[in-house]
Amino acid sequence: MFATLSDRLTSTFKNLRTKGKLSEADIDATVREIRRALLDADVAVPVVRAFTGAVRERALSAEVSGALNPAQQVVKIVNDELVSILGGQNRPLRLAKTPPSVIMLAGLQGAGKTTLAGKLALHLRGQGHTPLLVAADLQRPNAVTQLEVVGQRAGVPVFAPHRGNQGSEDLSGIAGGDPVAVAREGLATARARQHDVVIVDTAGRLGVDADLMQQAADIRDAVSPDEILFVIDAMIGQDAVATAQAFAEGVDFTGVVLSKLDGDARGGAALSVASVTGRPILFASTGEKLTDFEVFHPDRMASRILDMGDVLTLIEQAEKAFDADQAEAMAGKLASGEDFTLEDFLQQMQAMKNMGSMKKMLGMLPGMGQMREALENFDEREVDRIEAIIRSMTPAERRSPKMINGSRRSRIARGSGTTATDVNQLLDRFEGAQKMMKQMARGGGMPMPGMGNL
Ligand code: GDP
Repeated sequence: MFATLSDRLTSTFKNLRTKGKLSEADIDATVREIRRALLDADVAVPVVRAFTGAVRERALSAEVSGALNPAQQVVKIVNDELVSILGGQNRPLRLAKTPPSVIMLAGLQGAGKTTLAGKLALHLRGQGHTPLLVAADLQRPNAVTQLEVVGQRAGVPVFAPHRGNQGSEDLSGIAGGDPVAVAREGLATARARQHDVVIVDTAGRLGVDADLMQQAADIRDAVSPDEILFVIDAMIGQDAVATAQAFAEGVDFTGVVLSKLDGDARGGAALSVASVTGRPILFASTGEKLTDFEVFHPDRMASRILDMGDVLTLIEQAEKAFDADQAEAMAGKLASGEDFTLEDFLQQMQAMKNMGSMKKMLGMLPGMGQMREALENFDEREVDRIEAIIRSMTPAERRSPKMINGSRRSRIARGSGTTATDVNQLLDRFEGAQKMMKQMARGGGMPMPGMGNL
């Protein structure tokens, strides 16, 4: 996510770190580097111009703070300006006072709307809502089936009268596969079945065209959405701005969702969308799995880009992944000074796996940007291996690993398809984690699972 931009900006700041005081020439040189980094990352030209102008002006007028050195001051200014082009503050999803709330998704074909529909449904379900997905994309072959699949994964029902008959005869009684009628019927169904949120998936085209806009506008007029979310693929580069503007004029969306942020090293186009259209970014999509989804916080994203880490998002994901009871039991155990066992270790590793991609997670920690290469080589299958080894131990061995002698070790290695060396390595790592847990118990506080071992 924004890896290139992040690398370029942090190396620019590194050059500043050695300077005691910044001259106008230093500031100009820095601003030039920032401009180049932003342009290379595909940030739209007018946005770059406004951004660098603001940074230069503020750096020159040197809002001198005794607490910060010149390099830190520049970082702070760049951070503030990044937060500002990303929209300032998080804007929560607007729901209707009287349900059902209607959320309509718009965007080009392949932008990630259908996937997003599932992610959003899962997210809302997690908050206690009862969403209904409405399959009003009758254009793309398979869009209806795909929505049904994501609905099933998210545990959310799908209103799909055109199931299996896209482009052919209409079995639903709704005239001619009309997406506007589907949206209207979907809303009526949600009312009748007391769903409190309706998410309408609409058709996209490969490029912006008049028919597409008209259809989206007709659906909008039929269901009066509380939110129209424009989904944009962060990988489409400079076209992002023109596409966003076309949709802003055509359907007048209320918010933006950035999708495929995982896949893009540049991604600057996505950074331009909020400031070019004046609409807030509400969510970010970061992978193909339904859980690869985040509420978008401009300040946290700016911190991530500047490699200052996004500890808050990390904590939120950890909270979601952890069973609260489990975490409480663990905390109680630590407080009482009880031993941290291999069983606990395994439990933590599994929680870690639930947390999604470790690489993604570690990327959110401050300073981890420099470790990007090391992270690329990190093998998540390692956790599977650890799990296999611990599962091959008897309960007694798990409780007191000290009893694992040569013959037990070979049995465990055989059982888990690993080697005696692998078993030894795991036991060493476990001992390290155990020590860390003891320290944490003395110092209070709950450590991140497994982090001490990486
Ligand atoms: P739609 O045509 O707008 O409904 O787009 P889809 O939801 O069908 O997505 C198009 C393709 O992009 C599919 O293969 C998705 O799996 C993939 N996709 C969607 N969102 C993401 C994302 O955040 N990251 C990645 N890597 N792929 C995504």
